[in-house]
Formats: sequence, structure tokens, C-alpha cells
Amino acid sequence: MKKQKISNWGKYPVVEANVFEITDELRAQKQVKEGAELIARGLGRSYGDSSLAETIVDVTGMDRFLAFDDETGVLKCEAGVSFSTILEFFVPKGWFLPVTPGTKFITVGGAIASDVHGKNHHKEVCFGNWVREMKILLASGETVLCSPIEKSDLFYATIGGMGLTGIILEAEFSLKKIETAFIKQEALPAENLDIVMRLFDESKEFTYSVAWIDCLAKGKNLGKSILFRGEHANLEDIKNTPFANTPLFYQNKGMLGVPFNFPSGSLNSLTIRLFNGFYYMMNKMKGSGITHLDPFFYPLDAIANWNRIYGKKGFLQYQFVLPLESSRDGMGEVLQAIAVEGRGSFLAVLKLFGKQESMISFPQEGYTLALDFPIMPGLLKFLKKLDEIVLKHGGRFYFTKDSRLDPETFKKGYPRLAEFLEIKKKYDPDGVFSSRQSKRLELT
Ligand SMILES: Cc1cc2nc3c(=O)[nH]c(=O)nc-3n(C[C@H](O)[C@H](O)[C@H](O)COP(=O)(O)OP(=O)(O)OC[C@H]3O[C@@H](n4cnc5c(N)ncnc54)[C@H](O)[C@@H]3O)c2cc1C
Repeated sequence: MKKQKISNWGKYPVVEANVFEITDELRAQKQVKEGAELIARGLGRSYGDSSLAETIVDVTGMDRFLAFDDETGVLKCEAGVSFSTILEFFVPKGWFLPVTPGTKFITVGGAIASDVHGKNHHKEVCFGNWVREMKILLASGETVLCSPIEKSDLFYATIGGMGLTGIILEAEFSLKKIETAFIKQEALPAENLDIVMRLFDESKEFTYSVAWIDCLAKGKNLGKSILFRGEHANLEDIKNTPFANTPLFYQNKGMLGVPFNFPSGSLNSLTIRLFNGFYYMMNKMKGSGITHLDPFFYPLDAIANWNRIYGKKGFLQYQFVLPLESSRDGMGEVLQAIAVEGRGSFLAVLKLFGKQESMISFPQEGYTLALDFPIMPGLLKFLKKLDEIVLKHGGRFYFTKDSRLDPETFKKGYPRLAEFLEIKKKYDPDGVFSSRQSKRLELT
């Protein structure tokens, strides 16, 4: 056991915690039976406080593959296995993750607990959609199997349940077949929000789509962006490229790193404006082509510790989704508020979600925008203003990115929360699984 200062990817908040590393089921059971309130943690790539608590169970030591069916692509593994390990092992064999977020440095347990989405939500929903069975350690110390048939209430509450139903020890899910490790990508410039939304609409048949937005653009250029769309390349697509002889090449490359925290204020509206201008022009010129799947899915992973560019105080990620019918107006209002305030977000990512029925997973049909803001005076007040716009347009916020919302604001977006809390109570009557976030949001 180690007492240590710990934070997640946004480096805010920082808590002092006892961290217990578990490497097997027995160790995990022993820890839970101690009876202290605790929360599971994977690789800490959630931005806020969802995997922070006074007692943290670090699951990353449970990192074994358990079984693989090379006919169906069904993989069974421990919950601490990372997506990057799965890619390294399975891409060369012709298999890829069914859904992946913008970083591969997450665990299977974290992917299920946040029910992560990728650039293919409109076609392939969230990661939880691909999970067939889980082994969960309950508050009683008992381990149980759950699936859409067995203990289905526990199964569906655990997907997107932010670790509050128990510790996921193992999971079984399907990978998808690929012919190559390459993507046919198109980069389409859009001069404003209407154009990028039209491009999303026209790109619905593409498996992957995502747009990067220049948040500082104003007036007729409000919502100026680049939309990236793509498909897995097949052998025919790469036959005249230098990759023809190594179609399934995959290597977890050494990364460039940010060696220290940048001084606070390094990312200001001027540096962001310069970066945005450069990025827009570069991608406008680059257009279409074949790219390896790593830079397509994980552009930021090429730079280790990129979160240090926000300085020691850290940053907040702000992600919300709006229903389809109010997306255009709501996104316009949010972008307008940011542009007026001059508080550009270095990263601003727009995606289109398809339909999803789930208990407390984040996605619902409509557009989602993710923004990063360095912690600076006045930020919290400004975000309250954005909260009001989001709520006015019927939107909701993503648990895994949050570290500051108040309970009322958060709960408004989740009509099935009461049902979730009933199931939590059934499997965890004494509230053993509890995070700093679940307390702040008055869920535990
Ligand atoms: C650069 C970057 C890009 C991202 N892009 C996206 C994106 O496109 N889409 C998206 O959906 N998310 C995205 N994320 C967020 C990230 O995918 C999620 O926060 C994910 O849950 C992190 O997994 P983790 O293993 O790091 O878990 P942690 O951050 O450690 O924990 C996250 C949650 O999972 C719970 N948890 C972890 N392991 C277990 C377990 N074994 N049993 C039960 N509960 C557990 C924790 O209690 C906590 O509630 C991104 C994050 C970064 C840093």
C-alpha cells in the first residue's frame, strides 16, 4: 500500500490516496472485504475525479489475456489489460478494437466503466455494445459473472457505471477483422458550423468521422473546422503504396515527450490562434490519403505527457452532447460564447452520435463537443454560463471528463439515474464503491 498524491489526466483535482495494487482476484477480494469505501482505477485517462478517492484499487496489474477465438474474434482478458497491449498483439493478426477513444492508453475496465465512444458511434455505438460477459467483484467480496442474460441488471448498470457497481475483474468482448493496419482518410475543410454539420450528414455511411473545430473563429466563420472521415483500407487499397508488403504492421513506437510542466498561460488565445491557423491550412492542403491507424485514431498519443502543456495547475475538459434537433442552435451558442470570451480551447472535437439506449452511458443521438480549458481565474464562472446553454438545449455532460459539475446540473441530463441507483443499492447496499466524483454529484 502506498499513500500518494494522485490525479487523473486533467491534473485537477489532486487527492491524497491509499493506492492498493491488485494482481489477482484473491488480492482484490481481500481489499474489498476490508470494508473501506474505495474506487477502481485503470490508467487514469479520465480527466477528472471519477477514479479518485481516499482508497483506490489500481487494477492495471490484472493484465493477462485469458482466451481468444480466432474464428469469431472474441477475446477474454483481465480488466487491467490496456488497449495499447491489445493493439500490439492483435493488429498483426488482423484484428482491431470494435470501438476506441482518442487514446489507446486506457484499460478494458476503464473502457467499460465509462462506456467509451469513438469516431464510429453513429455506426457501431459504444464499447459496451461489444461486451458479452464480465466477471465483477461485488461489495460483499463475492465475484459474479454477468451478461445480457445472467444478472442483466448488474451487466447494464456496470456499462457506463463509473466503477460504482463493483470492480470489473475480467471481460469478454469481440474484436473486429481488418485486412490492413491502414485507414483511407479524407480531410474536408468546412468554413463554418452549417457546412461541417452538412458534411457529417453526408458522411454517415463512413465508419469513422470526427471534426476538429477552431473555437476562436467568429462571425460567418463560426464553427470553422476540418472533418476527417475514414474507412479501414483493404489489401487492394494499399497495393501501390510502400506498405503493400507489411499490411498489418504495428509497433508501439517510442514517443516524443513533454519533459516538464509548461508555465501557466503558455496556452493563451494568441498561441491557440497561431496553432489553429497552421492546423487548418496543413490539413486543407493534405486532403486525402492512406494513413496508419495509429495517427488516425490516436494523434495525441505520439506526445507523451502532452497534458503538461497546460501547466502545473492542470486543465478541465468540458464535454457535452445535445439532442439532434437542438444541436445546431446549441453548438452555435456555445461556440459564440467561447469566441466572445476569447477563451479558445486548444482541442475542440465535434462528433455525431447515433442512437443509443442505455442506463447512464453518456451518448445520445446528436452532436457532442469536447473542449479543453486551462485552469485560470474566471474559468469556473464561464463554464457555468456554458452549462446553462447546454441545459437549455436539452443536453448532458460526460462523467469521465467532469471534475466540477454540481449535482442538479449533472442529474438533469440522466433520466434513468434513479434506476441505476436502485441497482447499485441492490449490489452495494453500504456504498462501498464510491469516488470523489460520485460524492460530489451526490450519487453515493
Ligand atoms: C487523450 C484522450 C482522449 C480521449 N478520448 C476519448 C474519446 O474519444 N471517447 C471517450 O469515450 N473517452 C475518451 N477519453 C476518456 C477515456 O477513454 C476514459 O476516461 C476511460 O475510462 C479511461 O480509462 P482508464 O483505464 O484510464 O480508467 P480511469 O481513468 O482510471 O477510470 C475511469 C472510470 O473507470 C472506472 N474503472 C476503471 N477500471 C475499472 C474496473 N476494473 N472496474 C470498475 N471500474 C473501473 C473508474 O472507477 C472510473 O470511474 C479520452 C481520454 C484522453 C486522455
